Amino acid sequence: MFHPDAIGRHPATSVLHYAEAMPERFYQAYVFDMDGTVYLGDQMLPGAVRLITELRRRDIPVRFLSNNPTRDPAQYAAKLTRLGLPTPASDIVNTIVVMTKWLQANHPGARVYPIAEQPLIDALTAAGIAITEDPAQIDIVIASYDRTFTYAKLQTAFDAIWYHQRAILVTTNPDRYCPFPGGRGEPDAAAIVAAIEACTGTTLTKNVGKPDPAMLTAALEGLDVDPAECVMVGDRLHTDIAMAAAAGIPSALVLTGDSTAAEARAADAAHRPTFVLDRVDHLLPAGVRAELGWVDEPSPTA
Ligand SMILES: [Mg+2]
Repeated sequence: MFHPDAIGRHPATSVLHYAEAMPERFYQAYVFDMDGTVYLGDQMLPGAVRLITELRRRDIPVRFLSNNPTRDPAQYAAKLTRLGLPTPASDIVNTIVVMTKWLQANHPGARVYPIAEQPLIDALTAAGIAITEDPAQIDIVIASYDRTFTYAKLQTAFDAIWYHQRAILVTTNPDRYCPFPGGRGEPDAAAIVAAIEACTGTTLTKNVGKPDPAMLTAALEGLDVDPAECVMVGDRLHTDIAMAAAAGIPSALVLTGDSTAAEARAADAAHRPTFVLDRVDHLLPAGVRAELGWVDEPSPTA
């Protein structure tokens, strides 16, 4: 509807010099990567709380994604809540959730052997998925980010895949390592996959984590939205943005984490974001931010 009052309400925003495309409207749902996008380590990134609070105030669905299968959604929800953004576990989709859904949809009745920490094992059990350590019974070996990985686990996977010639190999996430603030990190699921591939000669059948679109499908499940009218927001071109491109949905790269503006400009079509933002609250159109009186407060680490 036409509102005469709206004319001239927004002062020209030409003082802002954005080199990259920015959203000029609202989307039907927003899917956020977490680390590097809404928080960094144990600190919320500038503008994240007010952005997500405003989206929720407008009844726009918000979901959060993580490739990390060592924590369950309730643990991520507790972290966001502790950092100042109260969030229910139902808003979180990580590779525990996606792997469980993928097994139920694609391999109902399969007996699985999860090389995994307790949260994934608990989720599979709760979903009624049969778990076995008997190599003669294993249909699917699930390699994941498992800090309790042992030679005995590798032997069980080897026996199921190579000796009994029956199990396929799948993984929760394709990450080589999990980065920590300060530059260190831990070997991630790709290391477990590589160990199993090396001894069995088999090849991974399926990864359900980013950049596989299975994760976005799971995140938008149950929402009455058109995926082409949603936006995926993340800090990594090769996972977050590649997943959105593969799923055919718009994406926003935030420059608060891993990938840079120069990398975004140089990216091929499969990794090119729709939008590039200095800070995550620039997802809202400039006119709306002006109406809300938002100014870009300095980074807490500046
Ligand atoms: Mg990230």
